[in-house]
Amino acid sequence: LFKAYPSTSKLLVLSTFSGGSVLVYSDLNTAVTPKDGQHKKKVVVLGSGWSGYSFLSYLNNPNYDVQVVSPRNFFLFTPLLPSVTNGTVEARSIVEPIRGLMRKKGFGFTEAECVNIDATNKKIHCRSKDSKSLKGTSEFDMDYDILVIAVGAKPNTFNTPGVEEHAFFLKEAEDALKIRQSVIDCFERASLPDLTEEERKKILHFVVVGGGPTGVEFSAELHDFLVEDVAKIYPKVQEFTRITLLEAGDHILNMFDKRITAFAEEKFQRDGIDLKTKSMVVGVTADEISTKERGTGKVVSEPYGMVVWSTGIGLRPFIRDFMQQIGQEKRRVLATDEWLRVEGCDGVYALGDTATINQRKVMEDIDAIFTKADKEKTGTLNKKEFNGVVKDICQRYPQVELYLKKKKLRNIANLLKSANGDDTEINIEKFKQALAEVDTQMKNLPATAQVASQQGKYLAKCFNRMEKCEKRPEGPLRFRGEGRHRFQPFRYRHFGSFAPLGGEQTAAELPGDWVSIGHSSQWLWYSVYASKLVSWRTRTLVISDWARRFIFGRDSSSI
Ligand code: FAD
Repeated sequence: LFKAYPSTSKLLVLSTFSGGSVLVYSDLNTAVTPKDGQHKKKVVVLGSGWSGYSFLSYLNNPNYDVQVVSPRNFFLFTPLLPSVTNGTVEARSIVEPIRGLMRKKGFGFTEAECVNIDATNKKIHCRSKDSKSLKGTSEFDMDYDILVIAVGAKPNTFNTPGVEEHAFFLKEAEDALKIRQSVIDCFERASLPDLTEEERKKILHFVVVGGGPTGVEFSAELHDFLVEDVAKIYPKVQEFTRITLLEAGDHILNMFDKRITAFAEEKFQRDGIDLKTKSMVVGVTADEISTKERGTGKVVSEPYGMVVWSTGIGLRPFIRDFMQQIGQEKRRVLATDEWLRVEGCDGVYALGDTATINQRKVMEDIDAIFTKADKEKTGTLNKKEFNGVVKDICQRYPQVELYLKKKKLRNIANLLKSANGDDTEINIEKFKQALAEVDTQMKNLPATAQVASQQGKYLAKCFNRMEKCEKRPEGPLRFRGEGRHRFQPFRYRHFGSFAPLGGEQTAAELPGDWVSIGHSSQWLWYSVYASKLVSWRTRTLVISDWARRFIFGRDSSSI
């Protein structure tokens, strides 16, 4: 349509600019607007997960030639992945084919994985899954003007010996299906004749490593499956079943409110889930898992039937190579500025689990905010001034706010008391010292779908408004006095977190320090996740899966 009727495209571009509040920086948008017959800027998007899909859904700027490269041609709704492991929800119900969106938006899609980024020549090197395609070669290059890296992360094994070979992961749809099949296989194997009691116990020992939200939810789902469904089908071996949850830290769900952690630990104890905290896995063999007890240093090995590894995420190898190219080799995660631009590299953005917003900058900016506030150079601020400054910091840096909330410092002056001993006159230097401590302790933005999808939406809105910025270079927002006019930086809004604990009970931590645990939160969980599914098709499928489970129970065939 745009090729045939370029004027239509201009009209649509203008209408796109008519609302919204995101402002644009001008240093990246030179020659964005293509005149008739001119080269459109080529935007290559790597990944079709939470951040990539959200970016593509909100991107409405016909001035870009958008090409998506991803090894999977669908979007996966990961929060419901644990429910796929026991058949509560079918895998197909939580995937949305990407081709539909591509067709609607006029974007190109290539099913391949990027294996190398050549930032100097603005090229990516890709490998297709199908080795027979592309005239006998499965590899090809693709140029870009702008690259959006949204490739997520891979499970982190911390180089623990034997994990890659013997453990299951829970990251992709195939992983969940493999787990589902393996659980049932364990029961079938344990039901074979002529096995000793010890052998049956070994086969039916399910070990989950990692007490974060995914490990906890998976343990809870597995427990429900075993109690509510499998026990009825395999009554003879039911007594040999055991679930062990291993966590290296002092508690499970340590990113949640303490009340939730305590409730979850008690519930797991009541349910008979063997919870072992302060236990670090040091090795996995085909038959045994070895843990080292923190404190005593004692190493204990136990036989197992199945291990599921869920201890967090790590960088994809090609991102590590890319970081070396651009001078970020010392960092743990790819660093971006607050506009999601990769530091040390032009025209490359990174979002979602792959990247983190550089903390050093956060402290420098906090310093600048205080310096600005301390106009009279008295070295102190009164409470009102101080609250204004803190509000400003928290708005700009959600990490600080999240940290303070986690520490239950509802009134930030409490932090001051410890730094200052006096909450009427705030000593700026002392507060900065306290914040520096916050900085070292505070975690980056959590690696969640919430962050990833908000980043995708934010970046798409920036891209949608590139031309507006070009036309009005004076821009309505002046930031940091650099003489540049930029978009507002990315701001994360936390809408709360859920931790399903099994037995139709969920813990919910919602904004405003509101904690709710139990059956009512489970219904909230059902409604929130049903509403968050990306299409009516997946919503209908998931709701019918839930209904099927209520009526008929879960399907326990290992098909
Ligand atoms: P992803 O969604 O992982 O997407 C990455 C994309 O990149 C994929 O399409 C992948 O195929 C593609 N890709 C990979 N390698 C390449 C390559 N080399 N080249 C090109 N493309 C590539 N978060 C929540 O907020 N709430 C929850 O309840 C929740 N539950 C979760 C449950 C589970 C089991 C898991 C695993 C995660 C859960 N998360 C949850 C976290 C959430 O899924 C992630 O934070 C989110 O997926 C990150 O989005 P992303 O776009 O960075 O990466």
